Amino acid sequence: MAKIGETPYIWKDGAFIPWKDANVHVLSHSVQFGSAVFEGIRCYATPKGPAIFRLREHLRRMLNSCKIYRMPVPYSIDELVEANRELVRKNGIEACYLRPMVIRGYGAAGMVPFDSPIEVYLPCWPWGAYLGADALEKGVDACVASWNRVAPNTIPAIAKIAGNYLSGQLIKMEALQNGFDEAIALGPDGMVSEGSGQNVFVVDGGVLYTPPIDGTLLPGITRSSVLAIAEDLGLKHVVQPLAREVLYTCDELFVCGTASEITPVRSVDRLPVGDGKVGPVTRALQTRFLDIVNGRAEDTHGWLTFVR
Ligand code: PMP
Repeated sequence: MAKIGETPYIWKDGAFIPWKDANVHVLSHSVQFGSAVFEGIRCYATPKGPAIFRLREHLRRMLNSCKIYRMPVPYSIDELVEANRELVRKNGIEACYLRPMVIRGYGAAGMVPFDSPIEVYLPCWPWGAYLGADALEKGVDACVASWNRVAPNTIPAIAKIAGNYLSGQLIKMEALQNGFDEAIALGPDGMVSEGSGQNVFVVDGGVLYTPPIDGTLLPGITRSSVLAIAEDLGLKHVVQPLAREVLYTCDELFVCGTASEITPVRSVDRLPVGDGKVGPVTRALQTRFLDIVNGRAEDTHGWLTFVR
C-alpha cells in the first residue's frame, strides 16, 4: 500500500512551513469528529512543466464541501490556485498528488464546532498509480461490497469530508481481505453507487452509462471529464440508475477518480467483464484522458493549470 513520501514544505494559512511542523492537537475537532474537508488533485509532468489537473473545479468542490458544513474559508479560489502552484514550485517536484485540507482545529470541547478555528493546509507529495502499476494496463478484479453507501439526506455524499471515508474504508478493506483489488458499493436502494474512491462507468452495446448524482456518491471531477471526453469522441453517454446485475452482463466496466485515473475492471465477483480483457471504449477514453493530462494532446477544455 502507498505510504506518504515527504516533500520539504506544506502551505498553512498563507505561509510555508516545514513538513514536520504541520501537526494538530489530538483533541482537534477534525480528529475527534471527522470534520476535515479535503481534496485530492493530481499534478502531471508535461512537456511544458508540471500541470495541475482541473485545479479550479477541485477547489470549488472543496469550498462547497465547507459551505455545507458551515466552515468559512478566508481564501478565494484564485488565492488557493496561486498557493497550490507556488507549493509545487517551492517543493521542486514535477508530478505529485495535492491534498488541500480545511480542518477544524483545537478549541471546541464537544461536537458543536464553532469554538474550533478553521485551518487550511496545502500538502503535496509524489504518488504513482493508486491501484498498482499493472492496473491501468490490464484492469483490476472487483467485487460488489456487502456494505452499502450512505443514504441521501443522512451524511451528504457531495461533500468530500474525512468522516465520509469511514464508508470507503469498510468497503475497501473488505475487498482486500477477500482477495479483490477494489469494490463497487450499492446505494441503499440496491442500485450501483460508486467504488471506495472512484466513480463507476459501464459500456453496454456501445453506449456509456454512469449512475446519477443521487445523494449516495461523490460527483467526481474525473467522472465529469470522462463524460466530456465521451462527448468529444462522439460516444453515446447516458446518466441513469444501474442495477447491480448490469455489472455482470455489461461489455466493459471501469472505475475513475483522481488517484485511479481510468482503471478498467476485468472481473466482478469472479465473473469476467465481457471477455475479461480491456475493451475498446474503455481504452479509447483512457488513452484520450492520459494524453490530455500528460500534455500529449491539446487541452481543448482548459483543464491544465501550469505551475511555472
Ligand atoms: N468517489 C469517491 C468516494 C472518491 O473518494 C473519489 C475520489 N476523490 C471519487 C469518487 C472520484 O472523484 P474525483 O474524480 O474527483 O477524484
